[in-house]
Amino acid sequence: MTSRALFGLTKAELTALMAGLGQKGYRAVQLADALYKQRVGELDGVTTFPVALREQLVAEGYGVGLPEIVQAAKSVDGTERYLMRMADGETVETVWMPDGDGGERGDGSEAAAEESGDEESAEEAVAGKKIDTRNWGALAPQGFRRATICISSQVGCAVNCQFCLTAKLGIKRNLTAGEIAGQVAAVLNRHGIQIGKDRINLVFMGMGEPFLNYDSFMKSVEILVTGIGISESRMTVSTSGILPGIEAYAKETLRPKLALSLNASNDVVREQIMPITRKWNIAALLEAVQKIPLKTREWVTFEYVLLGGVNDQPEHAREVLTLLAGIRSKVNLIVWNPGPGIEYHQPEPADVVVFQKMLIDGGIPTYIRRPRGRDIYAACGQLKRTVSEEAGLVTIGAPG
Ligand code: SAH
Ligand code: SF4
Repeated sequence: MTSRALFGLTKAELTALMAGLGQKGYRAVQLADALYKQRVGELDGVTTFPVALREQLVAEGYGVGLPEIVQAAKSVDGTERYLMRMADGETVETVWMPDGDGGERGDGSEAAAEESGDEESAEEAVAGKKIDTRNWGALAPQGFRRATICISSQVGCAVNCQFCLTAKLGIKRNLTAGEIAGQVAAVLNRHGIQIGKDRINLVFMGMGEPFLNYDSFMKSVEILVTGIGISESRMTVSTSGILPGIEAYAKETLRPKLALSLNASNDVVREQIMPITRKWNIAALLEAVQKIPLKTREWVTFEYVLLGGVNDQPEHAREVLTLLAGIRSKVNLIVWNPGPGIEYHQPEPADVVVFQKMLIDGGIPTYIRRPRGRDIYAACGQLKRTVSEEAGLVTIGAPG
């Protein structure tokens, strides 16, 4: 049994490890290449290493240590939800969304540019939905893939938002950097994804609060960028509003884009649905957000879960406009996804439309996030380590 995971070590740490074993520096480069570029699942796959060195690592308790996909459920919309098992048996969920969920739209990033470009029609053509002959040229020879992977940062969550199923789990433990980035590697391997050829976006929006596991989250970003090779401009981290985390994030040079779960237009409503507001209120959060040195074409995203009758009325939209005045922002409206034991209601479709229109008319780009994988409990706020039998789901594919 592997007790020491190699996946998750930075290049500097791998160099130190190899030096400690009396090995030359290039061995660290070879190992990093095997772990992060080839994404090997076993030490045996590190074919650039002599057998003796591999055996020495095994004898010292080292292994690759990728999380293992032990269960997978597929939605009618193509979304897949995985149960990932860590070395100690703890599990989290990770979601694969072909075509994304619109959450990466309109944020000025490369991902956003693609959303509105020819490729959109090209993909629809591939899916047989629409044949647009003007866009045949945009089709890659073997087709191409664009997908968003939603990853977890903790086993459970301590934040206790009243509308979220993950909150019901409480917090079991933080994930390590290797366990966070490892979810991505496991999913990329499952789909045979080639970085550089396929377009992959990452959202840190699964189980847990990334900013309450800050160091491991940031280290996972380093591994994903410098090791796996996914640009940070294709990553978005979502926080419920952990003030010290936002302040630390503002000082980072290598950082994903930020999404803040605003979810209410004033502190009274926000306290009811997100008790953490008592610790850090909306004004304090927005002040911290305004100190982030935004790059050109960078926006801060504000997520807003619409709860019927609670925060979805025109007066709330007006308050949001006042709050966000002067901040380079866009808003992602998320229609609340129901879950057992949670007493909220979904908003009326007409109210959603009015809310969006009011924000757009007020000058804020506002998108409605497409719910992905609701039928398999994979949508926002539905991740709680659902086991298939319990949810009456069909498990697809072989585990792993
Ligand atoms: N903990 C982080 C990231 C994970 S939650 C955060 O809270 O930001 C990702 C998003 O899903 C957040 O914006 C959250 O407000 C939203 N969310 C939680 N439960 C939801 C539900 N039941 N329906 C719709 N969105 C939900
Ligand atoms: Fe935690 Fe985010 Fe769910 Fe709140 S919404 S309980 S912060 S996972």
